[in-house]
Amino acid sequence: MDHEHCHSLLNSLSDYVEGDLSEELCAEIERHLQSCENCRVVIDTLRKTVYLYHATAADPPVMPQDVKERLYTRLDLNEFLNPSP
Ligand SMILES: [Zn+2]
Repeated sequence: MDHEHCHSLLNSLSDYVEGDLSEELCAEIERHLQSCENCRVVIDTLRKTVYLYHATAADPPVMPQDVKERLYTRLDLNEFLNPSP
């Protein structure tokens, strides 16, 4: 599995879920999702989180950094977020 690619994509996944990415980048992420179960799990969880934000907040949803970090930690993806040197 291409974990380096995961790392570069993870930073864009919340934008992807919120529909803020260019078509080109969306297509790249979708291609990657087809072959990467890790990122599919992340997308799934992000979608649910974003949905809850939409459902409960009047303001446009922004994923705060600490929420992102908790999410990635829970998913055991912290190594992607903070790769060790
Ligand atoms: Zn991936």
